[in-house]
Amino acid sequence: MTSGLRLLLAAFAVALASPALVAAQNSKPLEIYFIDVEGGQATLFVTPAGQSLLIDTGWPMERDAQRISETIKLAKIHQLDFVLITHYHRDHVGAVPLLVKTVPVGTFIDHGPLRQPGKPMDEDYAAYQRALTTGKYNHIVAKPGDKLPIKGIDATVVSSDGELIDRAFPGAGEPNHYCHPSAQLPADQTENARSVGTVLVFGRLRILDLGDLTSDKEMQLMCPDDKLGKIDLYVVSHHGSEQSGSPVLVAAIAPRVAIMDNAAGKGGSPSAWQILKAAPGLEGLWQLHYSEEGGRDHNSAEEFLANVGQDDPGNYIKVTAYQDGSMKVFNSRTRAEKNYAPR
Ligand SMILES: [Zn+2]
Repeated sequence: MTSGLRLLLAAFAVALASPALVAAQNSKPLEIYFIDVEGGQATLFVTPAGQSLLIDTGWPMERDAQRISETIKLAKIHQLDFVLITHYHRDHVGAVPLLVKTVPVGTFIDHGPLRQPGKPMDEDYAAYQRALTTGKYNHIVAKPGDKLPIKGIDATVVSSDGELIDRAFPGAGEPNHYCHPSAQLPADQTENARSVGTVLVFGRLRILDLGDLTSDKEMQLMCPDDKLGKIDLYVVSHHGSEQSGSPVLVAAIAPRVAIMDNAAGKGGSPSAWQILKAAPGLEGLWQLHYSEEGGRDHNSAEEFLANVGQDDPGNYIKVTAYQDGSMKVFNSRTRAEKNYAPR
């Protein structure tokens, strides 16, 4: 091949790269950190407008408050504009009292009063209330249909305190083929069913986080009509527990990328993993940990796992998301990044 021809071919290849894609990837991304709180949730969103949203705080342990603080430094922010507490189980609300000692918080968002009295919820809820009543923070009690006032993303509450949105998102609302008219599930009586769930829209990219919302609520939300529509990035409900993540939700939203905040011995159930793996159009299933229960047959390949061994390094997963719907997923253990093109 002549060098002239080679040059011509190279120019042709450059011309083939989508100008829209290049433009979108040049615009500022939304960054999402899946912090390892060992089977709890702590997910940090940083918008291009520089605003931050932390969904849940992990367990009542210095370890988790510290992992969140380290992530805040990594993300080059100095405060949490919003902290959303999905529900009052200790793997979600636990580290609030420790976190507020070192990190300034603007607004707390939650579902309102504790609905599952008993140990250790009473204690954790009281500690959270003590932080709230210092008067240092704004407080929003989320209601389904509310828009959260976060700059740079469009965040809509879809579930809170056991209530759900009563109408579909624009473009959604089709009959959900995964529903069975006769199917019934007993109502979950715990805080899980009270979880604040949100759909976060960034350009063409749609993200779903339902906390630990249980399958009885999934059925109400998704049957007979699918009120959510397709999702690009799914924060796997309930750490991949079998009480959540039923096909009526997971198959219908057809996530392109799913990230599970499980621990080695919590969440990551084989049945929830299998439902995710079978979801139509799934391109990547990432896990914060290798699941011992999942064993050889129900874990993603090692490159998709942030933590694999018995040691406890707290590796994280970071998603860099663009307005055109493309995403990059970074595994802090392998230092490797994987690209996902828009749908
Ligand atoms: Zn949980």
